[in-house]
Amino acid sequence: MTKTALVTGAARGIGLATTRLLLEAGWRVAMIDRDAPELEAACAGLDGAQAFICDVSEPEAVEAMVAEVQAAFGSIDALVNNAGVADFGPIAETDFARWRRVMATNLDGVFLVSQACAPALQAAKGAIVNIASISGLRASTLRVAYGTSKAAVIQLTKQQAAELGEYGVRVNCVCPGPVRTKLAMAVHSQEIIDAYHDAIPLNRYGSEQEIAEVIVFLCSEKASYVTGQIIAADGGFESTGVGLP
Ligand code: NAD
Repeated sequence: MTKTALVTGAARGIGLATTRLLLEAGWRVAMIDRDAPELEAACAGLDGAQAFICDVSEPEAVEAMVAEVQAAFGSIDALVNNAGVADFGPIAETDFARWRRVMATNLDGVFLVSQACAPALQAAKGAIVNIASISGLRASTLRVAYGTSKAAVIQLTKQQAAELGEYGVRVNCVCPGPVRTKLAMAVHSQEIIDAYHDAIPLNRYGSEQEIAEVIVFLCSEKASYVTGQIIAADGGFESTGVGLP
């Protein structure tokens, strides 16, 4: 039977690349995003995909969206919690509203969508893949809200894996290194781009496709004995300990 994956933040970037690879692998995909025009444009012409407009930080909207996806597809076999927002700023300039904006999508969104999908995922013995970041593994300047939100997603992954394992649900986390998406290029100065090139053993940014390949593997039966894992897809950056501005 064809399996269904729910991908958040699917309108562009890593979420869209993941959607395309899942479709190629024979999945149906519920594409979730809050940016309606970009989501509809991305979904058009993708056979097997359907668009659902939703802000993942809004509890009631998330409940309604997950119910709509189940009504449309019948099951949810994999959840990719990918929607995220970037924020680079010093602690002194990170007021509470700014902090909450980052936590609302990057952390609350993962919690809310996972919770709403849990019964369907348990019924399907499915999989969750949470997208964190190397900024959740290592501290560097300007990432107080973003890095903390992603570190929390790493711990949330471990909590989910511990709790959902008895229902046959696997939960893993991918920590991408830098990828030239809209999110990253809005905050990566030339200084940061150069520093990443120097610090990454492979000396380059990753592509959306390279991150999506890892996500799709973790969704698939090929990863049937892999759960609770935090996997960096980062060209070796995390292993080096070299600093960044
Ligand atoms: P992107 O900006 O290209 O795509 C993110 C998508 O998420 C957008 O379509 C946006 O509309 C959507 N989104 C944001 N907030 C939302 C919300 N509250 N509800 C619903 N949709 C929402 O970014 P990307 O680089 O593809 O990022 C995808 C994920 O990868 C994010 O979680 C990001 O933190 C993570 N990540 C990216 C990089 C990188 O360098 N690009 C590195 C590490 C981690």
